[in-house]
Amino acid sequence: MKVLIRRAKEEREARKAQPCRLLQNPPDNGLLLPQLVPVAHRVYRAQHSLLFGLSKLTTLVPVQRCRFCTEVHIGHVGHEIRTCTGPNSNIRGGSHVWGKGGIHSVVFFPKCFHLYDRVGKSRVVHNERFDVPQIPAILELCIQAGVELEKYPTKRRTKPVYSIEGRIVDFESMTEEEEETKVNLYSQNIDSPFVSDFATKFGDGMKNSILEEKNDLSDHLKDKEGRDLRELSIGTMDSWFEMISGAKKIMEKYTVWTCGYCPEIQVGPKGHKVRMCKASNHQQRDGMHAWQEATIDDLVGPNYVWHVRDLNGPPLNNNLKRYYGKAPAVVELCVQAGAPVPDQYRSMMRLDVVSPDRDEVDLVA
Ligand SMILES: [Zn+2]
Ligand SMILES: [Zn+2]
Ligand SMILES: [Zn+2]
Repeated sequence: MKVLIRRAKEEREARKAQPCRLLQNPPDNGLLLPQLVPVAHRVYRAQHSLLFGLSKLTTLVPVQRCRFCTEVHIGHVGHEIRTCTGPNSNIRGGSHVWGKGGIHSVVFFPKCFHLYDRVGKSRVVHNERFDVPQIPAILELCIQAGVELEKYPTKRRTKPVYSIEGRIVDFESMTEEEEETKVNLYSQNIDSPFVSDFATKFGDGMKNSILEEKNDLSDHLKDKEGRDLRELSIGTMDSWFEMISGAKKIMEKYTVWTCGYCPEIQVGPKGHKVRMCKASNHQQRDGMHAWQEATIDDLVGPNYVWHVRDLNGPPLNNNLKRYYGKAPAVVELCVQAGAPVPDQYRSMMRLDVVSPDRDEVDLVA
């Protein structure tokens, strides 16, 4: 906090000393960070591949979700761990009630406002909230970092902006020639046409449309005849890690904000000013969200699930809870479909723990 206050003070003094100054550093000055443009494209593609892979894997490996809370389980039978906090859960002794889940139970992409000009107009205000499109925040991150989508245009500059007493100003208006080179520059960047309506596919129709467009999808997930499940699960897991690691890298330079009280998220230099926070104490804040810097788990809902070690064993037992580990649902799904357990999740999935045999369960309990 002290650092933030000191930084704000320094910025204020710098503004006073030099009321009109050229902003040096991208992306704050309106320019893209060139080294992150290919990363943004990779994240964008990886997310497509991930969704494509998941749309197939979830038809082959059953996904369970609780009817009364957000708990998800991967496997043929739901677990028996009594952690339900949904309506009437005390009557059920904390048991979950399992129903069929799908791709959205496995991974969730919260939405945020799409900014046309992240530098010049970075904060959506309350009465603009219905006019500004909302798209998955990970997609907005890719756009702000350099992915061009016809459907969600965004202002790109060839010259850095000025700050005049804290206000952002474009000084040089573009000449016609520059305008042309800019168009050429970015048209090379535009992905194949199907991506432009990509965001709409996050809806319920997503699975089918993604399957229909399989021929457009990235190379390593083309749906070849006879392709085996293991290979698909490995490819899907690779896409997951590529998406996560790339998004983390972009987030070091392109800030993402989340509310400290609710799951609201916004990609951009600052959080928005839409007063819609319903979480505790929102009256005191007049519905304003309490913005703080987001982490990758705010951008991509990982939905941690219990890891099932023995796919043919009985349901996970409440009394053995302490022997079980967890993993993001995507990872668990891919592991159950044949992908090897990634090293960084071995201890979280508690593969280092020896679990008692089935016939010993009563002794442990
Ligand atoms: Zn691309
Ligand atoms: Zn539940
Ligand atoms: Zn909030």
